[in-house]
Amino acid sequence: MNKIPRRARFHRAEEMADAFLIKMNITKLPFVPLDVLHQMGVKINTYGKIANRLNCSYDEIAETFESADGYSSYDADTNKYAVAYNETKYPPERQRWTLAHELGHIVLGHFTEFTETRLARGGLTDNEYRVLDQEADAFASEVLAPGLVLFESGAYRNRDTIQDVCGISYTAAKYKAQYLSSIAAYSNVPKYMLLRKQFFEFMHIQYCPGCHALFIIKDADYCPICGGVHHTWYNPNLTIFEFLKDERGVIHHMIYPGPDFHNCPKCDNEEISDTDAYCKICGTTFVNTCTNEECRADADNNARYCVYCGSPTTYLQQGILEPWTKVANDKYSNIFSEEMPF
Ligand SMILES: [Zn+2]
Ligand SMILES: [Zn+2]
Ligand SMILES: [Zn+2]
Ligand SMILES: [Zn+2]
Repeated sequence: MNKIPRRARFHRAEEMADAFLIKMNITKLPFVPLDVLHQMGVKINTYGKIANRLNCSYDEIAETFESADGYSSYDADTNKYAVAYNETKYPPERQRWTLAHELGHIVLGHFTEFTETRLARGGLTDNEYRVLDQEADAFASEVLAPGLVLFESGAYRNRDTIQDVCGISYTAAKYKAQYLSSIAAYSNVPKYMLLRKQFFEFMHIQYCPGCHALFIIKDADYCPICGGVHHTWYNPNLTIFEFLKDERGVIHHMIYPGPDFHNCPKCDNEEISDTDAYCKICGTTFVNTCTNEECRADADNNARYCVYCGSPTTYLQQGILEPWTKVANDKYSNIFSEEMPF
């Protein structure tokens, strides 16, 4: 068995948190430790449940576990973990942190790597105890607020945004923002490429207040549907989206479908296969690109405008796609009459 290190291995804790997000296939924030612990088969108890069962107070439980927040344990015989947490005393952000911290002790191998930790906490020196807790906190910080995701979505620029998106405390968000403002870029090492891929939609989904479309395109300057420039990161946990929710908390957005290529949309020619790039009768091209000669970027099937330069697309110009205002009037006239907060 290994000896508990004298100093916390912060870098290792962060790396293992990133690897854990990849392994558990987490694709969005907030990270929900309770769900993940359940998924891992960890037995979960609240202080309330234990207090009830043993007929004692929360304070007595906290005293026994030497923590007012939470406690985890490991049974080597059955290879099973258990976590208990105080479900009443603190706000949800703090409970989430506590559970991510306990998850950290488990994932970082604190129970299996060091025999001392299997005993009650009395088996550890103050320094050993502090080292393991610092590592568990570093794990919690990264798993709840993964640096790459906050950095590349742009969320890191604002503490309130970090708080809302990750469900962490103001203090934790402040540290994260400070740390990320010192970073220039995340490299292309495999773990970051995997995280990027997993969180791509989460990081880059945009909402356009002009036409109410959602679209997932990185670095878009213009909305592909209406050509507007006011789109913003779509994250229902941000305060700005509170205004768009209905009584049931649902945010309505609009769908602008692409063309349906069974017939040529221009001349109705039915002799079209999936591989045709243009109609053999009228010459209409079936590839949507920007009409600006200097740009010519590829565009999504339902794009009316180029997201990089704002010029109309070939589909819009050729009449393959209807102008977005027509779709909006036909399909969504009821929603468009409402006053929007943007
Ligand atoms: Zn701990
Ligand atoms: Zn738009
Ligand atoms: Zn045709
Ligand atoms: Zn363009």
